[in-house]
Amino acid sequence: MPPLRLLVIDDEEDICDLIAEVAERRGLEAHAVSNAEAVPQALDEFTPDIIMLDLMMPGTDGVELLRLLATKAKDTRLCLISGSDSRVLNSARRLGGAHGLNVVAAMEKPLAVSALNGFFDSLSNAAQTPEDHAGAIASGQFTLYYQPIVDIATRRIKGVEALVRWQHPERGLLSPDEFLEKVVQDGLIQALTDFVVKTAVHQSSLWRRAGINLTIALNVTATTLLDLTLPDKISELCKAHDIPTDRLILEVTETEAMRDVTRTMDVLLRMRLRNIGVSIDDFGTGHSSLRELQRMPFSEMKIDKGFVTDMTSNRDCAVIVNSIVDLGHNLGLKVIAEGVENQRSWEMLREKGCDFAQGFFIARPMSAEALVVWRDTWEKANGDGLI
Ligand code: C2E
Ligand code: MG
Ligand code: MG
Repeated sequence: MPPLRLLVIDDEEDICDLIAEVAERRGLEAHAVSNAEAVPQALDEFTPDIIMLDLMMPGTDGVELLRLLATKAKDTRLCLISGSDSRVLNSARRLGGAHGLNVVAAMEKPLAVSALNGFFDSLSNAAQTPEDHAGAIASGQFTLYYQPIVDIATRRIKGVEALVRWQHPERGLLSPDEFLEKVVQDGLIQALTDFVVKTAVHQSSLWRRAGINLTIALNVTATTLLDLTLPDKISELCKAHDIPTDRLILEVTETEAMRDVTRTMDVLLRMRLRNIGVSIDDFGTGHSSLRELQRMPFSEMKIDKGFVTDMTSNRDCAVIVNSIVDLGHNLGLKVIAEGVENQRSWEMLREKGCDFAQGFFIARPMSAEALVVWRDTWEKANGDGLI
């Protein structure tokens, strides 16, 4: 297969050199331009598969360049780079999407070589075939990691979120960002979700037998929600493993939940009738109307980690987090803050009365075995007793 062709557009030449060097080491063919006027010609002559674009170029701005790309390189995969804060980057990402551009990533400066490597690796994933994923599911290369969720007021462990990982034979442990989109495109998300549900319920029963009583939250996509038999499948599985259904929580992102409100409502209601919890994930990034939100039978709300990680340095984010906590509570929901990375954000959330926290400050996602060890240590340090 010919190497992927990468066009770097950035006025800082040393950044161009860095990106090109890392890309070439990863087997890509790189070409860089450092002034905006040269972009149209580079698009015509180099015909890139991927473009990395700095949003701040002298003599033009990111918005103008996005417009140009929308006319000349609509299907090319695009990664946005910016020295501005993550909000600017997110707006640009949305704007790119609105122009019909295929924005696959966004990176903040200064660029870390590890982030670049991760990005280039994820591009070569595109070369993976559906058979690779199907084979990986069948041969047990997928595994679940678990990240603790802790009650902020009592420091007790509420439960865990199960996060899928791919133990790739050559490339090591891969995160969902590196394969999930492709699995969805390949139509294999159902098979992956089946694996996730079965593994989580089985794990839950193992922990339960060992006297460890935790809720397990699972992530499901909109496609999974279309499966109207899912509520029954899950409750039967719980029955077979002797797990009370209220130990299980399904997480659906706000964006996905609101895509087909009637359908989502149908499945969520049927989950709730079976006592399975449902959580609205990444809240704050989608477009729910308050009316829809109030009608949907969610039991929990998870504040998007973008707001939480930035709340200590960005007043706007702190205001948003506080408003979401109020909104959730007013709707009668428990609120979980994701992305709690330091003591300061923990304290701010505690003062605000947010119910639960999840994030690197407490623990990173880990294997089932590591979780048992972590739990002992946490309980020794914070008093015993589980919810
Ligand atoms: P999510 O459901 O919002 O999960 C939280 C993500 O935030 C996880 O990333 C977790 O590792 C990360 N995270 C947790 N605490 C912190 C923190 O303090 N700082 C930062 N920067 N990040 C933190 P992960 O495991 O890479 O998963 C990414 C996304 O992939 C998940 O976002 C979820 O939408 C999706 N996903 C994960 N597992 C599954 C799955 O089994 N099925 C489906 N359909 N989607 C999944
Ligand atoms: Mg989640
Ligand atoms: Mg989330």
